Amino acid sequence: MGDFIYKKNDLTTVSITDLGNDGEGIGRVDGYTLFVKDALIGDTVEARILKPKKSYAYAKTERIISPSEHRVVPPCPVSRQCGGCQLQSLSYERELRFKEDKVRNNLIRIGGFSPEELEPIFEPIVGSDPNYRYRNKALYPIGKDKEGNPVAGFYAGRTHSIIPCEDCLLGDERNKNILNAILATMQEKNIPPYDEETQTGIIRHVLIRSSRESSEMLVCIIINSDTLPSEASFIDNIRRAVENVSSISININKKNTNVVMGDTTKTIWGNDTISDSIRIYNSELSEFTGKSISYHISPRSFYQVNPYQTEKLYSLALSYAGLTGKEAVWDLYCGIGTISLFLAGNAGKVYGVEIVPEAIADAKENAKRNGIDNAEFFTGKAEEILPEFYDAETHSDPSLSSASNSGSPHNSPNYDMKSPDVIVVDPPRKGCDEACLETMLRMSPNRIVYVSCDSASLARDLRILCDGGYSLQKVRPVDQFSHTVHVETVCLLSRKAPV
Ligand code: SAH
Repeated sequence: MGDFIYKKNDLTTVSITDLGNDGEGIGRVDGYTLFVKDALIGDTVEARILKPKKSYAYAKTERIISPSEHRVVPPCPVSRQCGGCQLQSLSYERELRFKEDKVRNNLIRIGGFSPEELEPIFEPIVGSDPNYRYRNKALYPIGKDKEGNPVAGFYAGRTHSIIPCEDCLLGDERNKNILNAILATMQEKNIPPYDEETQTGIIRHVLIRSSRESSEMLVCIIINSDTLPSEASFIDNIRRAVENVSSISININKKNTNVVMGDTTKTIWGNDTISDSIRIYNSELSEFTGKSISYHISPRSFYQVNPYQTEKLYSLALSYAGLTGKEAVWDLYCGIGTISLFLAGNAGKVYGVEIVPEAIADAKENAKRNGIDNAEFFTGKAEEILPEFYDAETHSDPSLSSASNSGSPHNSPNYDMKSPDVIVVDPPRKGCDEACLETMLRMSPNRIVYVSCDSASLARDLRILCDGGYSLQKVRPVDQFSHTVHVETVCLLSRKAPV
C-alpha cells in the first residue's frame, strides 16, 4: 500500500489523451495511468485521486485547467447528476469517432483481428438524426421531495432518492406534460407515491411510449395496488395534457424488488397497444424503398428505443443478408419479430427464436397484421432450440423437436432449415451462448449477420465464428444511443470456401 505514487485525495495535473469505454478521460503521468471522471480527450485538468492502485488510479475532475476543443455545453441541466448521458459534454462529431474507435479497438484487442484486415471492411458509423429527442420510451420513477410533494425524475447515483426532472432531453417533449398531469392528480387526490422502505404508497413508476409514425402515446402507471384510486381523474388529466394519448393502462407490482413491472397489465382507457411502422431503406441508406413493416407495441414489449436509427440498423441487416426471395433464414433473439418480418419479404422462409413468450405472441400477431405467412416463431433459448432442431431426426419439421411448442407444424419441404442460407443474430449484451455459436457453425449457412449492442462480446463471438470457418466481410457501427457510451454494430460474415 505504502509505495503507491498517489494517496487518496491527492491533487494532480494531467493531460487527457484518450477516452475509456465508459467515456472517462485517460491520461498518463510518468507512466502511471489515471482514469478521470468528467474529463475529455484534449482537456488538461486538476484531478483528485479517488482510488490509487500500483500502476493506475481512478480520479475525478476537480477543475478544468484548459478545456478540450471537443467540449460543448451540455444542453441538459442535470446531465452530470443523472449519469444516463455520459457524453453530453463531447461534440457529437467527436462522440461518433469515440464509438467507431471503441468497436475497432474491441475487435482488435478482444477479437484478435488485425488493424490491416479491419481497415478495408470497417464502414463509417451511421450517426443519429436527430441526436436528441430520439427515444420513444421513457420510464420515470415517482417519489417525494423533502416537502412531501410527489416528484418524477431519476435516481441519484446508486441510491433510491429521486432527483426531480420531468424532461429528459433524449425523450419526447410531451412526456413532461403527462408526468405533470399525473403528479398534479396525485397531489389533488392525495395519492401517495410508493415508498420502498416502508413498502407503502401507490404510484411506483410511469412508463410512456410514443410512436414515430403516428405520434400516438401510451401511458402505463405502475402501482403497488390492485386498482388505481381516482382512476377517472387520472385518465381525464392525462388526456387533457396531451392530444394524442391512445392507450392508458395500469401495471400491478406489489413486490418489494428492483424489477419495475409486475405480471398484470390492465388497460383503463383506449387501446391495449400503440402501433408504429419501420420503413425500409435502400442499401446505401440514402432513400426509403417505399416498403415498411408495422408493429403493435404493448407496454412490456421489447422495442428498439431509437426509431430513426432502427430503420437504418434493420435495413443494413437486410442488405447484408443478401436475400433474393428463396432463402431459408433463422433470426435468433428475435424479440417481437422486428428483424424477422423485415427479412421475410425478401426470403423464402424465416424462423424466429426468442426466450420471452409474450414477445413471440406479439411476433405472430405482427406477422398476421402485415400479411406475412412465411415466418414462424419458436419460444425458447436460442442455444437450446437450435441444437435440438439440428439434431432432430426428421428434416425441416419443427413439430418433431421441442421447438414446436409455439409454432404450428408448417410443411415447407423446399426450405431446409437445418442448412439455412443465412442466420441473423441479435443477442443481448452478453452475446451468444457457445452452444448456439457451435450449432450455427454446424448448420454452416453461407452468411451470418451479427447485430450487436456490445462490441466486447461481439469481438469474442466473431473470433469463434472466424476460427470456425467464416471470414469477416463488413463491420458497421450504428449510433442508436446518442450521448451515451453505448453503440450498436452490424457485421456480415461469409463462409470460407473449403480448401
Ligand atoms: N431482434 C429484436 C430483439 C433484440 S434484443 C429487436 O431488434 O427488436 C435481444 C432479445 O433476445 C430480447 O428480446 C431477449 O428477450 C432475447 N433473449 C435473451 N436471451 C435469449 C436466449 N438465450 N435465447 C433467445 N432469446 C434470448
